[in-house]
Amino acid sequence: MKATIGVIRGDGIGPEIVQEAIKVLDKIAGSFGHTFVYKELLMGGASIDVYGEPLTDETIREGQQCDAILMGSIGGDPTTSPWYQLEPAKRPEAGLLKIRKAFNLFANLRPATLYEELKEACPLKESIISGGFDMVIMRELTGGLYFGERKTVNENGMRVAYDSLTYSEEEIRRISIKAFEIAKKRSCKVISVDKANVLDSSRLWRNVVEEVAKDYPEVTLTHMLVDNCAMQLVKNPKQFDVILTENMFGDILSDEASMVTGSIGMLPSASFNETKFGLYEPSGGSAPDIAGQKIANPIATILSAAMMLRYSFDLDAEGKAIEESVKNVLKQGYRTIDIVSEGTTLIGTEEMGSKIAEGI
Ligand code: ATP
Ligand code: MG
Repeated sequence: MKATIGVIRGDGIGPEIVQEAIKVLDKIAGSFGHTFVYKELLMGGASIDVYGEPLTDETIREGQQCDAILMGSIGGDPTTSPWYQLEPAKRPEAGLLKIRKAFNLFANLRPATLYEELKEACPLKESIISGGFDMVIMRELTGGLYFGERKTVNENGMRVAYDSLTYSEEEIRRISIKAFEIAKKRSCKVISVDKANVLDSSRLWRNVVEEVAKDYPEVTLTHMLVDNCAMQLVKNPKQFDVILTENMFGDILSDEASMVTGSIGMLPSASFNETKFGLYEPSGGSAPDIAGQKIANPIATILSAAMMLRYSFDLDAEGKAIEESVKNVLKQGYRTIDIVSEGTTLIGTEEMGSKIAEGI
C-alpha cells in the first residue's frame, strides 16, 4: 500500500525519537513492500521559531492531506525557554489543543502493557503480574466535565463553583464504536467504566454502550463502576482488555494504568476522529532535561508507529512485527537509560532504533 504520513518532529527529544520511528517504518516498507511518503509538519516550539505561532492554518491544511500523523513531543522547559514568555494562546502546547480541534480528535487510546522483561519496574507483586498484562484505555476526549459549562458565583455571601458534566447520545455512541472496533482487533472484551449508581450521564452512557454492543456480537461487554475499576487495576490488571470510559475517568485511570506498568517511557498513544485518520505520539513529554543527548528511549514512539499501521492502515501483521521486535530487543537485554537495570546493556537512542529495525 501507499500512505502519506505527516511527521511532527516537535521539540526537546521529539526529533531524536521520531527519527528512530521513521527508521523502523522504512524497514517495514522495505520488508513488506509498502510505500510511506513523509510530509514534514511544524508544530509547537519548532513552529513558533519559524512562524511565530505553534500551529499555522497552512500546516493544518497540509496535515489534512495525510492519512495519519506521527508526532514526537511538544514544548520546552517553562522556566528557561523563551516560548513561555508568550501569552498562553501562543505557547507550544496551544498547538495541541488546536490540532485536536481541527481534526475533531474525540477518542484517545492509551495502551498499558507490562513487558515480561521489564517486570522489575512494576510496583505490583509478582503473583499479580506474572506473565505480564496488556490492556488499552479508550478515553472520550472532547466532552464531559472538562468541556461543560463552569462558573463561580456568590450565593448568600459565599462563593459557590459549578462544573457541569454533559454527554449526548451521539458523543457516547461514536466513542463506543471506536472501542468495539479496537476490541475486535484484540481479545474481544470491553469493560465500560462509569458511575451509573449516581450519575445520570453515566446511566445514559450505559444505555448507549449497550445499544452499540448489539452490533458487535463477537465482543463481550461488561460494566464496572469507576471506583471499583481503580481498585481492580492494581488488584488484578490481567482481567482488562479494552476499558471504555468518559473523559475525566479516563484521565485518571489512564495515569493509574500507565504507572502500574512502571515504564511510562515505553507507552504509545493515539487519538482518533470518526475516520481512519489518527494522531500517534508517545505518552511522555519532550524531556528537555535530556534533549540533544541521544539517550532518550524511542520505544514509545516506535510503538506509536506500530499502532498507526494497525489502526489507520489495517496493517496488523506489520504492527505485530514491530511489537515483536521490541520484545526481542528487550529480551536480548538492551535498555535505554530510563529502563536500564542491573545485568542489562545500556544503549542510546539511535542504537535502540537500529536494533528494533534490524529485528524486523
Ligand atoms: P508533559 O509534557 O506530559 O507535561 P512532563 O513535563 O511531565 O511531560 P516529561 O517531559 O515526559 O515530563 O519528562 C519527565 C521525565 O521523564 C524527565 O526526567 C524525562 O527526562 C523523562 N523522560 C520522558 N520521556 C523519556 C524518554 N523517551 N526517554 C527517557 N526519559 C524520558
Ligand atoms: Mg513537559
